[in-house]
Amino acid sequence: MTAPRTFFSADYNEARAKFLAAAKARGLKHTAYLNPHAKGPKGEDLTVDVAVLGPANAKAGLLVISGTHGVEGYAGSGAQIGWLQSTRNANWPSGMKLVLVHALNPYGFAWNRRVNEENVDLNRNFVDHSKPYPQNKGYEELKSAIVPVNLQAETLAAADHTLRAYGKVHGAFALQEAISQGQYTHPDGMYFGGTREQWSVGQILHIVRREFGHAERVGIVDVHTGLGPYGHGEIITEDEASNPRYARSKRWWGDIRSTRAGESVSAHVLGSVDSGLLAALPHAEVTVGGLEFGTYPTLDVFQGLRADNWLHVLGDPRGPDAPAVKAAIRKAFYPDQDDWKDMVWKRSEQVLSQAVQALAAG
Ligand SMILES: [Zn+2]
Repeated sequence: MTAPRTFFSADYNEARAKFLAAAKARGLKHTAYLNPHAKGPKGEDLTVDVAVLGPANAKAGLLVISGTHGVEGYAGSGAQIGWLQSTRNANWPSGMKLVLVHALNPYGFAWNRRVNEENVDLNRNFVDHSKPYPQNKGYEELKSAIVPVNLQAETLAAADHTLRAYGKVHGAFALQEAISQGQYTHPDGMYFGGTREQWSVGQILHIVRREFGHAERVGIVDVHTGLGPYGHGEIITEDEASNPRYARSKRWWGDIRSTRAGESVSAHVLGSVDSGLLAALPHAEVTVGGLEFGTYPTLDVFQGLRADNWLHVLGDPRGPDAPAVKAAIRKAFYPDQDDWKDMVWKRSEQVLSQAVQALAAG
């Protein structure tokens, strides 16, 4: 058996090449969607790659997405490549469709950023842009601590003090919510949801409508990293416990955690991929989970993100500050350790197998 570490890649280009080779070897049909708005750090083209197995009009299908959050794509790409390279995919049920979407945010993957080419968090962009945006009062209060003017030690210490004080008054969860639930007023800030539909969002909506337009039952797994204990993979749902989808997800995967019930490592967020894809497939019974892998403590991850945001909106992504900032954010979302890769693969294999089994059982 191939060692799981070989499923993972050192950068976007390697991940893409490995994914395409694995998809070709298994006879999947490949389509590349070229991002017309951005290039990689070496001037390279950036694509969302889609590999499809199974009949066009399948009644049941599984969608696996990697790299919604760019730099988090190392894990999801490894899971997709592992699925194709290992024997897991050898007994694919006839009549079922498998759709692998590789690097939904290719700019973020290539540049080691969580956001896309417009500094937008795709997992906050699935909102109705013709309506007034939701408010985030906590973010407004904390914005100068979230986007400090520089990365000097005393500036960051003062910013951290502000955040800690907010946490003391409102609680740690309220602090996480204020920072990460999404905001639509500060394009230079963090967790910015954008003020128009992003290119990647248009692509994934097109892909799911095309691939699952005839499906009656669809499973969706969107792979993320950066929240929770090192190597632990939590299935996140946005459904309340009273929703039939919650019960179904629980039957599929056993232990699931709802952001609505405060059970999850994640805050309940606005304009998520889950909500967008559910709305795009109103005719189908959709079961959807975010698969979130822990890396390092939340504060380290946040500080890595904050420095990266500073680098791209106020600093110079090719300047002297860049190497340290880039190394830190990459590590925060991709530990690049064999034990972590083993855990990510093992859990991904389990979660995807459970979904296939449930879909096949009907
Ligand atoms: Zn994520």
